[in-house]
Amino acid sequence: MRIPVIAGNWKLYKTIGESVAMVNELKPLVAGIEGVEIVVAPVFTALGSVSAALSGSAICVSGQDCFWEEEGAFTGEVSPKLLKDAGCSHVIIGHSERRLYFGESDDSVNRKVRAAISAGLTAIVCVGETLEERDARATFTVVGKQIRGSLDGFSADDFKQIVIAYEPVWAIGTGKTATAEQAQDVHEYIRNLVLMLSGNSVSDSLRILYGGSVKPDNIKGLMAQPDIDGALIGGASLKAATFAEMIRICV
Ligand code: PEP
Repeated sequence: MRIPVIAGNWKLYKTIGESVAMVNELKPLVAGIEGVEIVVAPVFTALGSVSAALSGSAICVSGQDCFWEEEGAFTGEVSPKLLKDAGCSHVIIGHSERRLYFGESDDSVNRKVRAAISAGLTAIVCVGETLEERDARATFTVVGKQIRGSLDGFSADDFKQIVIAYEPVWAIGTGKTATAEQAQDVHEYIRNLVLMLSGNSVSDSLRILYGGSVKPDNIKGLMAQPDIDGALIGGASLKAATFAEMIRICV
């Protein structure tokens, strides 16, 4: 049994006040819902306040990125230890926007995942192909390379703190969702690859989320697929009522 994860990536939206207001609205809407891991990922500056507002609630808090060093002369960076200190239990690593705009590579993702796990965080590791790569029928090659590089060297124990998010770049923020079948094909490919690389028990228990324009009207079909274990949601996670509606559909 894999407990589904519904994670909201707030990207570069919301002040501290807006973030706290959002979780205060969300809390009663999802109170008592069981059997799903709910995660919100506000901007760095709001993490402490959001964590405090969520104290005593089952909603988890995530960073949107981290650095691999614990501390040192690394101006502007935030370490997994500091995310923990701010109340996080999760961190998103290797989001396609970081790969595209900030030069994130499979190697840097790998180092960040290692550091996140050491600090006791659950790493939500993002992979996904561009439209050009899909059109060139290179989806499996691209995603396979990202998985091998980003997750090379992790043990079965490490994988207990790893969640993969398959997010086709062409579906993120575009309103174009992969069909449930397109998503399932890639999720199945990822699970089989992890089976080959890390064995049966790791692949069986690994949560693989889908991300890319997930909305209340498409989440049910996606979640019905055997290898889709939740969603990483950007735009549609910014409103408490919509986010709660999607969580309810999943349980
Ligand atoms: C994301 O930010 O990871 C994402 C999937 O965004 P959206 O849901 O807006 O496509």
